[in-house]
Amino acid sequence: MYDYLIVGSGLYGATCAYELKKRGKKVLVIEKREHIGGNIYTEKMHGIQVHRYGAHIFHTNSKELWDYINQFADFNRYTNSPTANYRGKIYNLPFNMNTFYQLWGTSTPQQAMAKITEQRAEIGDRKPKNLEEQAISLVGRDIYEILIKGYTEKQWGRPASELPAFIIKRLPVRFTYDNNYFNDRFQGIPIGGYTQIVEKMLDGIEVRLNTDYFAERSDHNALAKKVIYSGAIDRYFDYRYGKLEYRSLRFENEVVDTPNIQGNAVVNYTDKEVPYTRIIEHKHFDPVESSRSVITREYPVEWQDGMEPYYPVNNEQNNALYRRYRELSKAEEKVFFGGRLAEYRYYDMHQVIASALKDLQSML
Ligand SMILES: Cc1cc2nc3c(=O)[nH]c(=O)nc-3n(C[C@H](O)[C@H](O)[C@H](O)COP(=O)(O)OP(=O)(O)OC[C@H]3O[C@@H](n4cnc5c(N)ncnc54)[C@H](O)[C@@H]3O)c2cc1C
Repeated sequence: MYDYLIVGSGLYGATCAYELKKRGKKVLVIEKREHIGGNIYTEKMHGIQVHRYGAHIFHTNSKELWDYINQFADFNRYTNSPTANYRGKIYNLPFNMNTFYQLWGTSTPQQAMAKITEQRAEIGDRKPKNLEEQAISLVGRDIYEILIKGYTEKQWGRPASELPAFIIKRLPVRFTYDNNYFNDRFQGIPIGGYTQIVEKMLDGIEVRLNTDYFAERSDHNALAKKVIYSGAIDRYFDYRYGKLEYRSLRFENEVVDTPNIQGNAVVNYTDKEVPYTRIIEHKHFDPVESSRSVITREYPVEWQDGMEPYYPVNNEQNNALYRRYRELSKAEEKVFFGGRLAEYRYYDMHQVIASALKDLQSML
């Protein structure tokens, strides 16, 4: 008999497992994939750490969470500075003085501000009706047309004029020559990949891979006094009220016979004509000497059954559906629900760790 059965070996499940073991609890982790780590899983290809489920950059403002993750790996000083490729021309991101220079030749903050103010006037004080108008009202038409429109339309699979305005709440604009994407105090990539972090968290804990909780649900439940469930909440309740919607991604890997093909880890393709949204060149996250490089093209796709559910679509309808499942979950006495799938929300890595540490108080 185990004290806890943990369903899912992603960062949520692994943090719970690590903390519970530290408190002397007997824990079993089951994982339906053939590997641990959930979406932060990295694997070595040609000596390069490849992020199998999309590029992951750890960043946080919390010293406590930064120290916490650094127990499990050494982090490098990687700074996320993506670039955008629009019809062959390169622009810096996030929108900053470099970008404004590339767009308009402006060299002072005053010149750039004047340009943006002039272009925002197109919408004026009118309430934006859709994402297109919202973006123009925030940053003006040039930035919208060149750096936002195509990318967003590919991401959501529909015209920006048909997307709700709330998707873009704000668009950070920086009037300094600073290409650092995040404002957080701490960021980096674990040297040697993310998988080692989860391996260390699960050290000394029994883990059963290729094991789906639902394959033998009652047998699994009988194994432990309490269950921590980090899978999809609608699946747990057999989709009783219907299915929650997600956006998915298709990743296309390529090994190229050159040591450095794009000079940056992340290049966004912001025109509509290129079918993918970005190309990741993994070796720039965690640099290694090698004559080859591994790149991944990311294609957003509409989620269907059997696909990986990557991004929750948190519109009113799905959120209302989630709340109904959440109500049901409260009646499950020995089961705790947590993590991005069970809570139907997008969590960054530092947030999912914080959430697990907080939830732990009620699990003990
Ligand atoms: C494309 C992409 C890019 C991202 N980039 C970043 C980034 O740059 N920085 C950042 O901080 N965060 C990033 N994230 C977020 C990060 O991936 C999450 O914070 C983290 O993975 C959440 O961990 P989790 O344990 O909640 O979920 P998951 O990692 O999904 O783990 C859940 C696990 O449960 C398993 N499971 C589910 N159902 C069952 C079942 N029935 N039986 C057994 N096992 C089951 C799954 O197989 C999975 O391994 C990104 C996410 C995506 C999708």
